[in-house]
Amino acid sequence: MNAPSPLSIEESRRYRTRVVLLGTSGGPPWWDNATRTGISTAICVGDAVYLVDFGEGWGPQFRKSGIGPSGFQRGIDNMRAVFLTHHHSDHTVDYPNLLLLAWHNGSDGLKRPIRVLGPGDRGALPPIFAAEKREELPEVWTPESPTPGMEEFTRKLLQAYATDINDRMRDNAKQDLREIFEISDIELPEGVGDDPNGDPTPEMEPFEIYRDELVRVTAILVDHRPVFPAFAFRFETPDGDIVISGDTGVCENLVKIARGADILLHECIDMTWVDELLGPNAPRPDENLLQHMLAAHTSIEEVGPQAEAAGVKTLVLTHLAPGNSPRERWERAQEGFSGRLVVGEDLMAFGLGEPA
Ligand SMILES: [Zn+2]
Repeated sequence: MNAPSPLSIEESRRYRTRVVLLGTSGGPPWWDNATRTGISTAICVGDAVYLVDFGEGWGPQFRKSGIGPSGFQRGIDNMRAVFLTHHHSDHTVDYPNLLLLAWHNGSDGLKRPIRVLGPGDRGALPPIFAAEKREELPEVWTPESPTPGMEEFTRKLLQAYATDINDRMRDNAKQDLREIFEISDIELPEGVGDDPNGDPTPEMEPFEIYRDELVRVTAILVDHRPVFPAFAFRFETPDGDIVISGDTGVCENLVKIARGADILLHECIDMTWVDELLGPNAPRPDENLLQHMLAAHTSIEEVGPQAEAAGVKTLVLTHLAPGNSPRERWERAQEGFSGRLVVGEDLMAFGLGEPA
């Protein structure tokens, strides 16, 4: 297969397997004049829909994308599985939209529950960054459970919405929400190091987290320290392979899971912005914080060589931070990468395999 190139959503419909960028911005800041919404990606194989991450604006973008045979009204009855890369709010803030509005938009009578997979409990609090410089150390938020994983996260969200849920079930005879979603923490394989404050990306192989008759999804730990677990995902489809980096700094595990993929969707950070914010000429320079941000993200200069090492055909930049940097800056990521570079835009699509 040739290196996939960007298509309109309409054009992409000729392909059985397609990727639709619903939102392409990193967060959580509200970027001035940005045309990008929060990070979210859809993968479709035939009518089946899979989603990764629910950044700000996910719902309206999903509707605009027209994914599903007749748009949103039947949009979610084709949803097979959804995945969260990590528990940062810019990836999860519109997840409740899926859970709660599902009822009103196609979930009634779902033939099978929608699988929801995301990272489990971190297991330990992260260290306090630059504690020596802080006048006061932060109190732990909800000390009884300070780092919940996917199942607990969802359970507590739904608890908070109990008034609505009980009303809909009693007054509108809506199906029990527990039948619509099947929520799981992604369990790390036996023997993989799980010391969140030690090495967050131990040497490991991608491991299977989901499979149906159309796709197989594998995951690997990537370096978004101190966030743990933070995953990249690989979707193996009948028409080719798609990898989503999640949030990560340069890391060997990412190269491993992305090896030979047709499309690598990779996060990217513009260090010009970080420099303006924290560099030597910034109003409040902070070299430590600058290094801290760089460790957890991949710069424009770093992303090309990372994709080259993995030997991917098409590198698509997404989760762009800041969300309002000009396109010319992102295009510099071509340096060190011999494949096709695409600067992702909201509602851009790709087709894999041969068009019908
Ligand atoms: Zn993040």
